[in-house]
Amino acid sequence: MGPWQYVHAGSAGPRKGPVVSDGILLIEDNEQNRYLLTFLLEARGYAVTPAADGPLGIELADRVRPQLILLDIQLPTLDGYAVARALRENPALQSTPIVAVTSYAMSGDREKALAAGCNGYIEKPINPETFVSEIEAYLEAAE
Ligand code: MN
Repeated sequence: MGPWQYVHAGSAGPRKGPVVSDGILLIEDNEQNRYLLTFLLEARGYAVTPAADGPLGIELADRVRPQLILLDIQLPTLDGYAVARALRENPALQSTPIVAVTSYAMSGDREKALAAGCNGYIEKPINPETFVSEIEAYLEAAE
């Protein structure tokens, strides 16, 4: 059973929440996860800019100025904690919500993500039925 068989559960229904002109930056090295999260977000009307590693994500965050950044923690070359710290060093991104998305289940990793500058934490495997609503809570909190 592939990951695509359950995406339909999260894609039905009208889009709610704001349409964001500058969209969501998704920093995630796993192609299947990028596909799934992009599918769920686009189905609800969000534009998604994908980045397959941290350095590219840091560059795109500066160019795109996303409304929210989804940040995988397990990334090659530069892990998510280092990426979050680098994003926060950019004055233009000081108030951009950064949500860590990680398979690490240890509670200490949540504190590490918050200490690195993330606003919150979503655990993998994500729930396709609630994922976008969880993201929208961060968008609304940032308004
Ligand atoms: Mn990863």
